[in-house]
Order: sequence, then structure tokens, then C-alpha cells
Amino acid sequence: MTDIPESHPRYESLKMRESLVKSVEEGITSQAGLIAHGRGEMFDYLLGEETTEMAKKAERKAVAELDKAENPVISINGNVVALVPRGIIELSRTLDAKLEVNLFHRTDERMKKIEQKLRENGAEKIYGLDPEEEIPGLDHKRALCSHDGIYTSDVILVPLEDGDRAQALKKMGKKVITIDLNPLSRTSKTSDITIVDNITRAVPNMIRCEPLQEDFDNGYNLRRTLHYMSERLKILSEEI
Ligand code: ATP
Repeated sequence: MTDIPESHPRYESLKMRESLVKSVEEGITSQAGLIAHGRGEMFDYLLGEETTEMAKKAERKAVAELDKAENPVISINGNVVALVPRGIIELSRTLDAKLEVNLFHRTDERMKKIEQKLRENGAEKIYGLDPEEEIPGLDHKRALCSHDGIYTSDVILVPLEDGDRAQALKKMGKKVITIDLNPLSRTSKTSDITIVDNITRAVPNMIRCEPLQEDFDNGYNLRRTLHYMSERLKILSEEI
């Protein structure tokens, strides 16, 4: 890795990029994953790279729903492993949720590498490696999942997910929770709870936070997030 001084104003962002590039080189993250990250970064810029009050609320509600679930599952892809390899495992322990690897660009080689990386970081049982089931309505590889994991989950956390699969999971009747910096993505609009925050902040927050038991209106929370972004743009435009 190159040495980025901690004093660099974009230190965190540059470290994330480095982790992703390394992860592509290792064959864990797909090249398309880099582009997805770039899209996320753009929205993080609009948030001031900070967790908003709306995101905190969604994170707390997500934890409450995952806590209450009978079969909670956390879906993992190459970007998640690159950015929060330890955090996601710790979160699964805190929530007593299963970890399932579910890839858009699924190859046997990438699955093995992700499994290895998760094991190195302390994961024990990993679902999705020998999938017996398919999520209805998706093409074969993207649909593959474990019977005891995603297939029979009632509440599922799908961070950095694509819209097709989020919609297909909703159609299966699941409660879908996402972490997605883009409040306008199909995944964000489809999910029951949308955490508009960087996964690198959202996961540690979820490990520590107090579950929210009160009602939560996801549409209202998303509208407030968009409003926050547009207000911030206005303020920034006046500073130029
Ligand atoms: P959709 O299909 O839901 O409309 P999309 O085509 O943008 O969205 P993907 O390309 O699969 O979906 O990207 C996944 C999403 O993850 C993007 O919306 C991106 O904003 C978001 N994202 C990328 N990196 C991060 C990150 N570090 N933290 C949170 N979200 C991220």
C-alpha cells in the first residue's frame, strides 16, 4: 500500500479506494465494484462524509428489526468484504445474524477468495457457498442462495445491493434493509429501511447503537435525506 499521511484531507476516502483497488487485485471485488464505489463516493460528498441524523435513525431501526427477526441474514459482496471485513462479522455476531455471500458477478474463484478473506477475519459459518435455491425472477447466477440463509430469511440486510435483487427479495415477502449512499437508487426506494450512509460508518454505528423501537417511516426519512443534500448544495454554492 502507498503511504497516505493521516493529515491528508481525504485520508479516509483514499484509504477506502486503496482497500478496493487491492481487493480487485486479489480477485475479491469486481472491476464494476470500483464504479459502484465511485457512485457512492459522489453521494457521500453531498452528505459531507458524515452520518446524518436520518441515517442514525435508520441504523437504529435496522438493528431493532434484525434483533427481532427469526432468521436474520446479512448479504455480503466483494465491496463489503473490501471495506468492512471485520466489522461485518462483528455485526453478524452482535445481531446473531447469518452471513451469506451473494455476488452479482459470481465466479467459483471469487467465492473461494471471499470465503478465505472472511475466515481470516474470524467468520465461522458462511452461507451461500453451496447454494441449493434460487431467488425467483433473477437469472441463474445472481439468484443462487442458501436454503437456510437468504432463501428462508425473514429480515435481510443487503448493503450496496443492486435494484433487481432488492426488488426480487421484496417480492419474496422479506423485510429488506439496505445501506446505500444513493437515496435515489432502486434499492434505496425498494427497501423497508434505507440507511443512507457510508458502510464504513454505518457498520460500526450499528454495532454500538441503541435499537429504535418507535415507528419509522422510510419514505419520510429518504425525503429528509434528499432535502438535506439539496440544502447543503445551496449553502455550498453560496460559499463559492
Ligand atoms: P440500483 O440498481 O439500486 O438503482 P445501482 O445500479 O447504483 O442502484 P449498484 O451499481 O449495484 O447499484 O451499486 C450499489 C450501490 O451502492 C450504489 O447505489 C452506490 O451508491 C452504493 N455504494 C457504493 N459504495 C458505497 C459505500 N461505501 N457505502 C454505502 N453505499 C455505497
